[in-house]
Amino acid sequence: MNRISVMKPWLGTAETDAVAEVIASGWVAQGPRTVAFEEAFAAHQQVDFAVATSSCTTALQLALLVAGVKAGDDVVVPSFSFVATANAPTYVGARPVFADVEELTGNVTAQTVRAVLTEKTTALIVVDQGGMPLDLQPLRALCDELGLVLIEDAACGAGSTYRGAPVGAGADVSAWSFHPRKLLTTGEGGMLTTNNMQWAKRARQLREHSMDVSAAERHNSTLAPAESYKEVGYNFRMTDLQAALGLVQLDKLDTMVARRRFLASRYQQAFANVPGLRCVTDPEYGTSNFQSFWIELGPQFGVDREGLLERLAEDGISARRGIMASHLQPAYAGHSGIVSPLPVTEHLTANTLILPLYHQLEEHEQDRVITSVLSNVLAATGGE
Ligand SMILES: *Cc1c(COP(=O)(O)O)cnc(C)c1O
Repeated sequence: MNRISVMKPWLGTAETDAVAEVIASGWVAQGPRTVAFEEAFAAHQQVDFAVATSSCTTALQLALLVAGVKAGDDVVVPSFSFVATANAPTYVGARPVFADVEELTGNVTAQTVRAVLTEKTTALIVVDQGGMPLDLQPLRALCDELGLVLIEDAACGAGSTYRGAPVGAGADVSAWSFHPRKLLTTGEGGMLTTNNMQWAKRARQLREHSMDVSAAERHNSTLAPAESYKEVGYNFRMTDLQAALGLVQLDKLDTMVARRRFLASRYQQAFANVPGLRCVTDPEYGTSNFQSFWIELGPQFGVDREGLLERLAEDGISARRGIMASHLQPAYAGHSGIVSPLPVTEHLTANTLILPLYHQLEEHEQDRVITSVLSNVLAATGGE
């Protein structure tokens, strides 16, 4: 019996060929493929500018810098997220302040954000958790009313939609991840997107040591122009090896999303009407790419989260505990940004788990997962 993983990237010979071509070209660092990937990604996500980075974490840091978030500012973030969301404000000397989430989507709302605003709040980082689109419009209205910057951590969100358009396009600046745990992968890598030309320009420079002439531009000129460094920058570049991979993966994104949505609907059908078991589902205002397919267990289910994880492991199935709560990590113990209780976050992180879902998952394999999840229910009703 083969082991079923929780996630696998979908890579093939097209990716191998694309990377081999970059190697043969002799230009492996940030160059023409990175530019091509940026343009293709911006077009796909319906934004004006895309700036490729080494990761989503570095894209978030650049997003805060170009938006003018500075030392001493407060930035509202969900605790219910991968810890990089909370870490990003710290990198620029700001303080992450934790907002709770709603139970249905696992995302922040205008109400949960409003509850933790302080005098020093200058920005929010909102997340499309596990690919589940957040309800942006009320948050957009809140930010416009109070003059706050709206940053979207769309790390998991490529291929998800909000009111008929790709997620991320409605924020002031968004950050994306191409880690293999997400749908579209470049091994490691990220992207910053924005419609603000000045911000895009500054992000490009900060990414490359704040050089005012890029390495590619210097390479393409015979007499290399002298460059200058206006501020302290970073090396947050993506390589052309990664960008070549990204271009192939971007072409496959819509196919990947369709397959994942099909598999998600099979889980939803199999688990409908099971007492104490709730599946993540699309909200009325958008569609998820189901980057993470999570279920929430209640007392009526009969087995708790840890028990079900054990059973799945015994059956050769990798599942994962649900999304983490950053404020419960040792790194944030006693942190001053925990300004109010976060009951929904704590409930979800303790009672949810993520089931296997990836492009190549076959239906008979998924049926094994379903049977394992439901084995106590099936036993109790005398089934099988
Ligand atoms: C994966 C993830 C990140 C980090 O992405 P990297 O590309 O690994 O830096 C940040 N935020 C969220 C919500 C994520 O899921």
